[in-house]
Amino acid sequence: MNTQSAARSTVYGYPRQGQNRELKKAIEGYWKGTVSADALRQTAAGLRKANWQQLAADGIDEVPTGDFSYYDHVLDTSVLLGAIPERHRAAVAADPLDGYFAMARGTQEVAPLEMTKWFDTNYHYMVPELGPDTTFTADTSKQVAELREALDLGLTARPVVVGPITYLLLAKPAPGVDEHFEPLSLLDKILPVYAEVLADLRAAGAQWVQLDEPALVQDRSADELDLTARAYAVLGGLTDRPRLLVASYFDRLGKALPVLAKSPVEGLAIDFTGPAEGNLDDLVASSEVRSKRLVAGVVNGRNIWINDLTKSLATLTRLRSLAGQVDVSASCSLLHVPYDVAAEDGVAPEVASWLAFARQKSAEIATLTLGFTEGAEAIAEQLNANRAALDSRSGSALTNNPDVRARVAAVTEADSHRSAPYAERSAAQQARLGLPLLPTTTVGSFPQTTELRTARADLRAGRIDAAQYDERIGTEIQEVLAFQEKAGLDVLVHGEPERNDMVQYFAEQLDGYLATQHGWVQSYGTRYVRPPVLVGDISRPEPMTVRWWAYAQLQTERPVKGMLTGPVTMLAWSFVRDDQPRSETARQVALALRDEVNDLEAAGAAVIQVDEPALRETLPLRRADRAAYLSWGTEVFRLTTSGVRADTQIHTHMCYVEFGDILNALDEMEADVASLEAARSHMQVAHELGDAGYPRGVGPGVYDIHSPRVPGTPEVVSLLQKGLAAIPAERLWVNPDCGLKTRGWPEVRDSLDNLVGAARTVREQL
Ligand code: GLN
Ligand code: ZN
Repeated sequence: MNTQSAARSTVYGYPRQGQNRELKKAIEGYWKGTVSADALRQTAAGLRKANWQQLAADGIDEVPTGDFSYYDHVLDTSVLLGAIPERHRAAVAADPLDGYFAMARGTQEVAPLEMTKWFDTNYHYMVPELGPDTTFTADTSKQVAELREALDLGLTARPVVVGPITYLLLAKPAPGVDEHFEPLSLLDKILPVYAEVLADLRAAGAQWVQLDEPALVQDRSADELDLTARAYAVLGGLTDRPRLLVASYFDRLGKALPVLAKSPVEGLAIDFTGPAEGNLDDLVASSEVRSKRLVAGVVNGRNIWINDLTKSLATLTRLRSLAGQVDVSASCSLLHVPYDVAAEDGVAPEVASWLAFARQKSAEIATLTLGFTEGAEAIAEQLNANRAALDSRSGSALTNNPDVRARVAAVTEADSHRSAPYAERSAAQQARLGLPLLPTTTVGSFPQTTELRTARADLRAGRIDAAQYDERIGTEIQEVLAFQEKAGLDVLVHGEPERNDMVQYFAEQLDGYLATQHGWVQSYGTRYVRPPVLVGDISRPEPMTVRWWAYAQLQTERPVKGMLTGPVTMLAWSFVRDDQPRSETARQVALALRDEVNDLEAAGAAVIQVDEPALRETLPLRRADRAAYLSWGTEVFRLTTSGVRADTQIHTHMCYVEFGDILNALDEMEADVASLEAARSHMQVAHELGDAGYPRGVGPGVYDIHSPRVPGTPEVVSLLQKGLAAIPAERLWVNPDCGLKTRGWPEVRDSLDNLVGAARTVREQL
């Protein structure tokens, strides 16, 4: 290709659920038996069609296919490649749809695939399970059918498939397979199956196929890059195939860029937003891309802010000389953003003008394509409107609260350090609390019963008033406390019954945060969340948790923990503003939370927990960026928690941890006590911390709350004994892995009774 044709607009994927989450309703109805398989298929086909037509109407020239999913696109890839685990084969053979859902959710008889986070997003995928004996066989029926559906609408369509390197890198050894088995060793077995997939898609009418390789934006070894080169040499060398577009997103390609550039694929799709902006400079050095199609991801596909169209046009213009053909897209699939800002009638029009969901982003892509092809004059009106919206945002009082700004600017190093060293603090805390060795506690929430959910729904619908709602919450807190006293726990919690969600609850009470009405994004399967938006400068108009904490503490002599969500987690589960560094937003949130911590202390709280379950989740994909992130991430935790006296005990909690990465970070948070997920890894965390000489209190979970299973007392005793081999009894806490909100009361009662019983048994042996 050396003559450039007009730029085309495209996207890699679109929200799947439907404007009103029709897909969720249909799938859950199917599970319950109230929706037939045919009705589900029809709903799904209708949603796909509506999405494609919407995209075409909004000016997208080339639509994606195969991105639709009943549950997860990585699971779809496992089906496409025939990588069905042994334990699910019978179900899949009996009925492919039910078998598919059995892989996703398990059945009475078989466990589901494991689920984990898709890179650093809040989307979760089903982890492929592979072993040396895995055989792959192509089942292209879904991909082919969906391509045909789009082609039949008269659209230009491009199937999107997870690429072989990423698929294998995302996989894990199947149960029973040696844990050191590397799925990437299956590359030579999987490539012929990809070849079949490509041939089938070509036969079905695909001109191009997109192979997604986001795993290449992480640090990859020389071997992995060699295998990447080999994979694309093989696929590129096939004769019976469509043209290949290899897509990456979420960060820069780094050393993988020249590998892909040199490979015989016809196109690359590259992210030029956020941490991936560096791809632009890297591309200058690559002569091979000059003969390829380059799909430029200039519209951020994972935030909800309008694009700076002028800046994107400049990027596109720079790219023009660097590639054979430049097309325009979002940086990644629009799966990560909600449908349509227009549905948000509760948002002030000025603020709405700063927001872009999937529909608005599609329109931006179309506008940029036009401006890029025909010149800025062709989109003068849109550029003006865009400039006006950006100006309104940067000049708004909402984004420039002078009090907040002054306060952040005045933060000193001393503000993020406790007044006394740990040894002094722990002595003062022990004098105040008088806790036994191996103190017992829980992570915060107790079961969110149907009564509680109903009460919340009743309040929203006006069936009960605030006073009646509060009464129900009060009763629940009393019951939770009475149970904990009876069970013999040492440090109690109020159970968080008033909280719908650990981030939303605070977002609703902080100024500068925006809640959406319809801003659903897929978390996993049929679970959707509505992340709140950090839209302006953050401040706390009044205390958020003191009232219920004080209410709880009145009911008992034992200490009740104050319970807050930490600043990094507040950011991680929200849409974060992009007009200032994340660290700046985090500092604003931290100062608001610091006031809350101090108010809890003033109200009498002797123990305050600040949860940071997401610290590990938002770890940058590139190792080189991690130190800077952990530095501000731990600083804002300290800023939140350092305003208290020495005798106030600060706890933190983290889940889903792989401690190798964040051991130092845990140390830098300087929390007096950290409760951590550990039950399934048999206290490994305790040993890692012990080996590293971790100096403070730690509660490695002894009760796996991800399962309804009740751990027996002897099992907990043995975990505690293991823990004691690494951490002395003065500093070893006894607690579950995480909050109990998803569990049922019967199993929680028994489990906590056993947990306290085990702590008592082990104390007697000391
Ligand atoms: N305090 C929260 C709870 O118990 C912590 C939840 C979490 O770590 N995800 O629910
Ligand atoms: Zn947790």
